Amino acid sequence: MLLLPRIPSSTFPPLHKPIKFIIQCNQPNNNNNKDTKKPNKKQPPMSNTGPKSRKPSYGRSRSSVMKKSFSQEQVVFTAPIPEDPIVGIIGGGMSGLVCALYLEKRGIKSTLFDTGIHGLGGRLGTRMIDPQPLVFDHAAQFFTVTDPKFAELVDKWSKDGLVRQWQGTIGELEKGGHFIPLPPTPPRYVGVNGMRPLADSILSEMSMVDVKRPCWISTLEPFNGMWHVKENGKPCGQFDAIIIAHNGKCANRLLASSGLPLIARQMKRLELSSIWALMVAFDHTLPMPANLATLEGAFIKGVDSVSWMANNTKKLFGSASHGPDCWTIFSTATFGKENKVPQESIPNVTAEKVKKAMLHGVEDALGLSRDLLKPFYSRLQLWGAALPTNSPSIPFIFDAQGRAGICGDWLLGSSLEVAALSGMALANHISDYFQSGGSCPDDFSIGLQNEFQPLKGHDIGQFPGLKAEEVHSETRDLQLSTST
Ligand SMILES: Cc1cc2nc3c(=O)[nH]c(=O)nc-3n(C[C@H](O)[C@H](O)[C@H](O)COP(=O)(O)OP(=O)(O)OC[C@H]3O[C@@H](n4cnc5c(N)ncnc54)[C@H](O)[C@@H]3O)c2cc1C
Repeated sequence: MLLLPRIPSSTFPPLHKPIKFIIQCNQPNNNNNKDTKKPNKKQPPMSNTGPKSRKPSYGRSRSSVMKKSFSQEQVVFTAPIPEDPIVGIIGGGMSGLVCALYLEKRGIKSTLFDTGIHGLGGRLGTRMIDPQPLVFDHAAQFFTVTDPKFAELVDKWSKDGLVRQWQGTIGELEKGGHFIPLPPTPPRYVGVNGMRPLADSILSEMSMVDVKRPCWISTLEPFNGMWHVKENGKPCGQFDAIIIAHNGKCANRLLASSGLPLIARQMKRLELSSIWALMVAFDHTLPMPANLATLEGAFIKGVDSVSWMANNTKKLFGSASHGPDCWTIFSTATFGKENKVPQESIPNVTAEKVKKAMLHGVEDALGLSRDLLKPFYSRLQLWGAALPTNSPSIPFIFDAQGRAGICGDWLLGSSLEVAALSGMALANHISDYFQSGGSCPDDFSIGLQNEFQPLKGHDIGQFPGLKAEEVHSETRDLQLSTST
């Protein structure tokens, strides 16, 4: 077999002069066994000023990332699927974890990479502040269950004492203190010790998954019949298939020169909101009007700066709990956009302005006078890529020629439930693909052309089954291949 040194993607010829070439393959195959990069015929040809000699760099502008993704050539794996394939999963949130779990159920090993310094889980985030400790769920607050497959997971968590129903009063709070409680059904579930332990629990169920954390995968390259991943130039492993279980700017950059133009294009269509999370603790109960005395969580209406507030102390430790009251407050998506800054380095002046506006928002919602709320602890975080606002309404995307897939909440909506369903569906699909031997890739490619639709729901996502909740009904019909 002819083995050529790998040609870096940055030296690929412009698309109007397509050539096919071998980038190396070490698997024996009688019929033309090679991985090739082939031009993406769906895209218009690029000019000669294409990405000739520029090195991939994470400091690139958005426009150069766009150009790169559209001009890159499609990688085509033709090596046979090995008997014991291994999958690389980049992202250890709900979707990536559930994907690893369901791959394992089908006997497939994986390595899961996640950037989390404090733990796995992504937007299943719980923050504990010592020494008291103060506890805040600082992303997902509660979830509903509509799908039987997700219900199986939740039943197990429930039996293991990890989740329970949130019985506290939740509703819609309009500016001035007008409150409409939500009916008790559908049940609302919360993590008994916060949301993050659910991630640890999924991990504890698996024995065929190698977790690498904290690890920020910065390069994804097809080479020698496999996907090679690197963190800042350091090799982190090679895989028979790769799964992107995260989204946003980071994923766009990772995909920009990976040899997956169709996946890259779909990912780039995704639009995400920004949401500020303000965690505050008070050494006394909030001075609520009488009608709101039992309120534990509220979707807020008619206030510019705030869309949600929840008493995490009462939610996690019950209505009779003592000690400081910890509240998680979320901004509206509009306020998040108007006050967006780099989330890694929030200027003090912005932090102060945002905190003040959000506390005022809570006071306005409760009908309290301004500057009455004086937390003894506060912490602000910006979720720069918080929630999807559009979706292709398909459980996952899979490029069988490139042996690469995407899972995540945004494929179906914006909730923990759909994130889990997406991970499950992709795992089952890849397992079926491996089982097929990989010889008919066209039969297994999914979601590479789907149009995106705007998503409806609350600013902090969807809660399937909740009153006033509008979810694409057709997504339910698109549950693919969930047999285990
Ligand atoms: C403010 C807020 C409130 C929410 N409230 C609710 C709610 O109440 N109920 C509900 O059901 N849903 C809620 N959601 C939505 C819910 O949290 C998400 O739908 C779900 O957690 C998404 O899971 P995921 O696996 O798709 O993505 P994520 O949880 O985002 O997981 C992606 C993971 O990939 C990692 N990663 C990214 N890039 C790399 C890289 N290059 N290398 C390695 N790892 C990488 C990230 O660190 C992250 O851990 C909320 C979300 C937000 C932001």
